[in-house]
Amino acid sequence: MRNDYSNKVYMNCSDCNTFLKLQICHSQAGYYLGFFCPYCGPYSRESEYFRSRVEAEIYLVDAQRGDEENQRLNEELDRMCKRIA
Ligand SMILES: [Zn+2]
Repeated sequence: MRNDYSNKVYMNCSDCNTFLKLQICHSQAGYYLGFFCPYCGPYSRESEYFRSRVEAEIYLVDAQRGDEENQRLNEELDRMCKRIA
């Protein structure tokens, strides 16, 4: 199953510019994938809430895999463009 939410796996905190990685977060509503800044606190929520941590982990792995796939496709596209140029 493809993740239908944002494919973003890395980002920088807009407040302190710390490099953030998508991770499993937990709140009273449940588990979710999001960014957590060690200096500013919870930064953003990138998924719906999951009932279990395992479910969130599956989505996290899927999101990371999707990101690798995007990078691979971008590199391929880059090579093709260079060949044409
Ligand atoms: Zn921050």
